[in-house]
Amino acid sequence: MKRLLTVENLTVAGIILGILAGVYLPELMLNLKFLGDVFLNLLKMIVIPLIFVSIFMSIASLASLNDLKNMGIKALLYYFSTTALAVFTGLVITNIMKFDVSGIPKEGEVPQINSFTWEAFLNTLIPSNIFESFAEGKAIHVILFSILFAVAVVGLVNSKKEKVVGFFDGTNDALLKIAKWIIALSPVGVFSLIGYVVADKGIGVIISLWQYVVVVIVGILIHAVINLGLIAYLVGKFNPFKYFTKVREAILVAFSTCSSSATLPVSLEVATEKAKVDKKTAGFVLPLGATVNMDGTALYEAVAAIFIASLFGIELTLFQQVIIFITATLAAVGAASIPSAGLVTMTLVFSAVGLPLEGIAIIIAVDRFLDMFRTATNVWGDLIGAKIISRLMKND
Ligand code: ASP
Repeated sequence: MKRLLTVENLTVAGIILGILAGVYLPELMLNLKFLGDVFLNLLKMIVIPLIFVSIFMSIASLASLNDLKNMGIKALLYYFSTTALAVFTGLVITNIMKFDVSGIPKEGEVPQINSFTWEAFLNTLIPSNIFESFAEGKAIHVILFSILFAVAVVGLVNSKKEKVVGFFDGTNDALLKIAKWIIALSPVGVFSLIGYVVADKGIGVIISLWQYVVVVIVGILIHAVINLGLIAYLVGKFNPFKYFTKVREAILVAFSTCSSSATLPVSLEVATEKAKVDKKTAGFVLPLGATVNMDGTALYEAVAAIFIASLFGIELTLFQQVIIFITATLAAVGAASIPSAGLVTMTLVFSAVGLPLEGIAIIIAVDRFLDMFRTATNVWGDLIGAKIISRLMKND
């Protein structure tokens, strides 16, 4: 009995009970929202220090800066190629499973979304005040500063270097210990988060958009199971199913929180403790991946663009599909790792091929639901990447 009551199994039970309670006891679940918020806040509480310290420790413990270049190139190559593969899969599936859009209303309330522009994005890459970036949880700034700081520390004389590294080594372990305590609360946290979403949105909204929902989910499953599974098997030479059973807690938390960054403490913990991925690699590849590597988001943006085009009767040329391929890949890199971030960067894809932005208003009703699947895939992609790169770096 005790073996059955693991945090992972209880989390699965939390998700199932959350869905049931959301359907049958919506009032209760709306009132229990605070439990999910507490869980989410606890995760967010440690994520920024954890990103800083884990990237710092991973670089500081590399044998040389050449290793950093090596790992960085491998990670970026992995992120980029898997994201592009995800978009490609989305495009192929949508072209095979043609949408029948008769009967779907074309109205919706246009959301307040600031359009995404690359100028603004690039401008926000460099922090002007690192403390402000820490306070506002700007992961990309923290990553950049952490890399600079680590490279500087590696160049210090040994006596000074050891002091700084020793301090952050202890800090890292302490943060991971806190992560473990928070993870123990995940069954209750996911129960409340999922139950609230079901109670608030209702299952009914899915019905009119069911084809869109099905295509996104089928595409995501093909990418997560077949594409990433094969990459794990062929490039990383490990069994993805066995790996999944070790890291599944992170996937379940990603599914319930819809935030890759809030899931990061869990991903780091399960990857290093349960799946025994080398700490140096996981400490670098997971935080960076949580911020820039989003396969599920990329796939979903491509499917959404084609769906809205069919709904508005717009025939997309092959050239326009290539533009969708490129912009969806970039939009996924630019998306923040928080709930519904993909909706914001979707404006980039829509504008690039001239689709009406009102289209976003139509699919917003099912966004939170699809966010669960895409965030789970985003985190799964990061975890597979961490294992593959640690194998390629011969650390595993
Ligand atoms: N919620 C997703 C994530 O955190 C991003 C998105 O909206 O697609 O990974």
